[in-house]
Amino acid sequence: MISPFASACSYHMPAGDEAVDWGKGIQWDGSTAYSNEWNASIATWNAMKKINISKDTLFTIEDLYIVDVYTPTFPAFAGYANKTVSGNNPNTNNNTPYIQINTGTMYSLTSAEKQKTLTHELGHALGINEITISGNIMKQGKSSQTYLGMKDKEVYNCLWG
Ligand SMILES: [Zn+2]
Repeated sequence: MISPFASACSYHMPAGDEAVDWGKGIQWDGSTAYSNEWNASIATWNAMKKINISKDTLFTIEDLYIVDVYTPTFPAFAGYANKTVSGNNPNTNNNTPYIQINTGTMYSLTSAEKQKTLTHELGHALGINEITISGNIMKQGKSSQTYLGMKDKEVYNCLWG
């Protein structure tokens, strides 16, 4: 799953850390209690049109797994991990990249903040790293922004356009 990332793309994840397959798709499986926010996150990124994010079926290969965990003492709302992170993959079926949603801290967020969190993690699955510029989904931290920022789109288009 190594992608030919253009070296000019700033804020990209190390090549191979994304969940995008060779067919320019992410087929996801699993579930989360925040399905409305998750579906809105998928729609936000699918509007960019280059990578098709869709539910895994019997006839496709799973690229991404989403799961809720309850870890109230761990402050992060959610996290994305590539398959090379060993030892804590919650998906026992295989080694696909995964998004973990921490219900132990997520519950305190508004719906918009939950959506921002899920859109952010899905951005990592698309190969986009933390962006340090305000006004972007890929900037770390609590925010009620649910739309993509200028830099979010720029990095996406640099990677996949
Ligand atoms: Zn992040």
